[in-house]
Amino acid sequence: MSLFSQLEFRYAVYLAADLPPDIGTEVAFAGRSNAGKSTAINALAHRKKLAFVSKTPGRTQCLVFFDMGHHRHLVDLPGYGYAAVPGREQDRWTELISTYITQRKALKLLVLVADARQGITPHDRYLLDWLAPTAKPVHVLLTKADKLTRREAEQALQDASGAIADYPGDISIQLFSGLRKTGVLQAQAQIAKWMKQ
Ligand code: GDP
Repeated sequence: MSLFSQLEFRYAVYLAADLPPDIGTEVAFAGRSNAGKSTAINALAHRKKLAFVSKTPGRTQCLVFFDMGHHRHLVDLPGYGYAAVPGREQDRWTELISTYITQRKALKLLVLVADARQGITPHDRYLLDWLAPTAKPVHVLLTKADKLTRREAEQALQDASGAIADYPGDISIQLFSGLRKTGVLQAQAQIAKWMKQ
């Protein structure tokens, strides 16, 4: 059975102190708000609304855990890059995400979702820089590839590959479209590879 066929919402976590026990295997999804993260998760899970539970009011600034069965979880990290978030909220967000990213033993793979038209942004770099000392594997989805011509998409892939080349761990990148469902099998295969180890 596919890793993604049994995804179920499990917990929403607002504070680093409330994270569930650090056991099992987790794959976390991160990305700038509006990059297409929820659409990507739904496309991978072949579901329409699953990841949008993370967007219900009050849940936009928390970590959302989805159960994949057999002690595996998909973790939806709150989107970043909203200037509108007040200072205090921003601090809480930074603490929650940085604690999770830097300390979580169960985290086996970070999937970084970036809009192919914007490439790797400074916020994405922050996240990679936090993760760098752990050298954990990262897989980048350049989403909304359907909005680019083939040539533009190839250029975007090349530029983004250059922007992440200095990451010290295993890092891979691909074009993706949650809307057209292109790149779904490739992304699923990458995730399955790290989740099984
Ligand atoms: P999130 O904030 O990162 O979770 O982003 P969403 O998944 O909510 O997507 C933000 C907007 O981009 C929505 O209007 C989506 O319909 C649109 N979108 C997401 N993925 C794609 C894609 O692959 N192609 C296109 N054309 N639009 C997309």
